[in-house]
Amino acid sequence: MRGIIVGVALGALASLACVSLAGSAAEAADAGLAEKFRLLRLDGRQVKWGSPELGTGARVSYALVAGRVHFSGSHNCGEMAPVAPLLASSGISAADFTTELRAAFAMWEAVADISFEPAADPSKAQILIGIQGKPTGWAFANVAYDRSTDAATGRIEKSLICLNPTKLWKIGFGGDVRIYDLRYTFAHEIGHAIGLDHPGPAGQLMAFEYAETSRELQPGDIHGAVLLYGVRGMRSAAPSVPAADAPSAALALQSRQPSHAEWTRDASMER
Ligand SMILES: [Zn+2]
Repeated sequence: MRGIIVGVALGALASLACVSLAGSAAEAADAGLAEKFRLLRLDGRQVKWGSPELGTGARVSYALVAGRVHFSGSHNCGEMAPVAPLLASSGISAADFTTELRAAFAMWEAVADISFEPAADPSKAQILIGIQGKPTGWAFANVAYDRSTDAATGRIEKSLICLNPTKLWKIGFGGDVRIYDLRYTFAHEIGHAIGLDHPGPAGQLMAFEYAETSRELQPGDIHGAVLLYGVRGMRSAAPSVPAADAPSAALALQSRQPSHAEWTRDASMER
């Protein structure tokens, strides 16, 4: 697997010239950086939102689930429900929950050319957030991509993020790693939702162990996001097609097209 990861990193450096110009040369040149991020691979393909071309930006819509939803073919988050029970049991207000979610999206927006906006029609949101209908673990993500082409990079069509409502949740670090910080967890799961996997057990926000050492994206996290979407502010002159207008957005909540998409892939944060 290491060979594959290194190959991805080296192969993409040439198309990331603007990364170096933007001041990340030291990071890009870090021989150890390839060990600090890992692109999500589904059926052997890396995946991203928007254009399949690496380093191109994307706009992605999101929403909290408004009712109980079921995704029959989903590996994770197959059943999701509104977050109210989690808020009640953890004593977190809906406003604070949304603030933390928004802050987590902003972490990725700040470093890579990917933007997240509330879905005008929540039923067509590209990223859905909710609690698990069948609680397990702490938090999971599920990523579905367009399989209608055999392009090297798959186009993500929908991502799900689900939290376990039977666990306690908090805002901020408190030293008790059995209670996860919402912002950290959202940022981690959003990382999966946009095409990143775990690089290892520790050291990056995308590491699979929850740790209260940093609430910020680490160099590997940033490099992975930039590899997929380019650097914030480096968008080309050509207008990007809003993701909401893309054909993949037509994928209805409960009427996915099996020939085009497959709900698959574990992406969990576990201790
Ligand atoms: Zn994870």
